[in-house]
Amino acid sequence: MGRIQQLPPLVINQIAAGEVIERPASVVKELLENAIDAGSTRIDVDVEQGGADLIRVVDDGGGIHADDLPLAFRNHATSKLHDADDLFNVGTLGFRGEALSSIGSIAKVHLQSRPPDAPAGAEITSHGGTLSTVRPWNGSPGTRIEVRHLFYNVPVRRKFLRGPATEMNHLSEVFVRLALAHLRLHLTLRHNGKGVYEVPATAGLLDRIGLFFGKEVRQQLYAVEAEQGPVTLGGYVADPACERGGTLMQYFFVNGRWVRDKLLTQALADAYRGLLMTGRHAVGFLFLDLPPDHLDVNVHPTKAEVRFRDPEQLQAFITETIRARLQAEDLTGRLRGPVTAERPQPAAEPTFDFTPSPEPSPAPPAPAPVPAPAPVRGAARQTAAPRASLPPPPPAVMAREPESGPPPRRQGNVSAVIRAIQLHDTYLVVEVQEGMLVIDQHALHERILYEQMKERLAAGDLEQQRLLIPEPIELPAHQVALVLDRRADLAELGLEVEGFGGSTVLLHSYPAVLGKRAPQAIFRAVVDYLVTKEKLPAREEMLNDLLSLMACHAAVRAGDRLTPEEIAALVRQRDRADHSHHCPHGRPTSLLFTLHDLERQFRRV
Ligand code: ADP
Ligand code: MG
Repeated sequence: MGRIQQLPPLVINQIAAGEVIERPASVVKELLENAIDAGSTRIDVDVEQGGADLIRVVDDGGGIHADDLPLAFRNHATSKLHDADDLFNVGTLGFRGEALSSIGSIAKVHLQSRPPDAPAGAEITSHGGTLSTVRPWNGSPGTRIEVRHLFYNVPVRRKFLRGPATEMNHLSEVFVRLALAHLRLHLTLRHNGKGVYEVPATAGLLDRIGLFFGKEVRQQLYAVEAEQGPVTLGGYVADPACERGGTLMQYFFVNGRWVRDKLLTQALADAYRGLLMTGRHAVGFLFLDLPPDHLDVNVHPTKAEVRFRDPEQLQAFITETIRARLQAEDLTGRLRGPVTAERPQPAAEPTFDFTPSPEPSPAPPAPAPVPAPAPVRGAARQTAAPRASLPPPPPAVMAREPESGPPPRRQGNVSAVIRAIQLHDTYLVVEVQEGMLVIDQHALHERILYEQMKERLAAGDLEQQRLLIPEPIELPAHQVALVLDRRADLAELGLEVEGFGGSTVLLHSYPAVLGKRAPQAIFRAVVDYLVTKEKLPAREEMLNDLLSLMACHAAVRAGDRLTPEEIAALVRQRDRADHSHHCPHGRPTSLLFTLHDLERQFRRV
């Protein structure tokens, strides 16, 4: 090995460039951020060949003093940070003074600038790190920067660039993030001479979301607004029906800066738990604002990562805010059938897709005019205790109907008299004010039981039903240990277990709310969960999983014939349970055919 020597500055810059500049999109990000930091009101971006050949950014901001032009290309030269204390109070997007020096060392850059109060401007070039002299330039106030032939002097990296379409995709993503975060800016993006986006300064957040993601998304958004101490959360989350296969449409901004953060992603996922099926993801555009000393942005050179001072508290705040917001909405899926005249589909069954209700609900339901099946008398009066006397298949349907529940929250809600029938021993068809509700009896009952248990668990009063004779359950010996290990958690869920020597455990009790449906089977399912998971999730998530598992096993099944009283009880409880539109696994429990939809289908309108 040779002797140690100091690397020349150009090589240092090229190494640094590797961290900051990965592809054309990174250049656009840095240049846009500089223009924003300079107080611009309008920024135009023009690129050719996905940015590999040319990136031009023109702004009308504060410009750079002619004497400072060479400094702008110097590493760690910045006008935005003066001492180490400033690091914890960063108010600008840039502050490390690395971008221009990096870009200048791996491309041919032409920078022209004029501060508004200067009589004239000046220009300079940096070709692979070699600076030209500063020459006078006669342009309008602001800065104009052209980056040509990215990586022309770093062939390995140039080779790693993908096709123009892919690079353009990354680059547009950067553009979109900044456009969402800086609502006062007029922004344009052109590719190979063609307009891609034109975002006027007058376009607010909703308009911008509509412009980038289309009407479909825009119409399914719910505004979010909350604060906790000095922390505020704002923006929009989409109806669960707007779900996506990935997290690409989750945008998080912290103090105006787009970030990628596990904690925020998790907080959003938790808020939608039970509303989306596994592998599906929510859509959201969320803006967090915290005092600068509540976070550290100087974690990574691209500044896309942050560190929070109180991560757990923040996560809980976000999840609870969004959860409460979703809860305030009627998320019942609406069936939309195509009208054949508009969209001919020969010999095909009409296909339905869900779209959530865009319009707010109208007046309260009128009482149904025609008599219904026998009202649920005895059941409605029952409280916790005498569950044993309930009629078999689904005792829990009847149980626990408080005399006066909370006032019904939503439309589509069933008035005092219920008109409903069971079809195929699986579905309930119910007349509601707006039309007709089709309910999956298992899914709905599952959700109701789950919510009842969850509420009681939270209140610390998940009532147990003790078994007169403890139920012995045989398990493989190694599973016995696993189960006994979890005794405390199980007890909290109403399942009291005890070792009985060897491979037997005794089950002493089960959650009363589940009724008498085979405690054995429910307990088996719980044990299966505990022993087959390679690693148990965090406690709260585990309890949650177990609750939905127990609810699933205790709920009426598809194929169970229900009595009119049971049907009525189930339908009534739908209006009382939280999230009753989706089962705990995220499947819809009910679908609404509005009268309007029916009329359209039958061409009555
Ligand atoms: P940083 O943004 O971290 O300060 P950069 O390398 O991106 O570092 O930019 C260096 C300096 O050049 C900035 O601090 C700023 O003073 C100046 N500058 C760069 N772009 C612009 C622009 N579009 N308008 C005004 N000044 C700019
Ligand atoms: Mg910068």
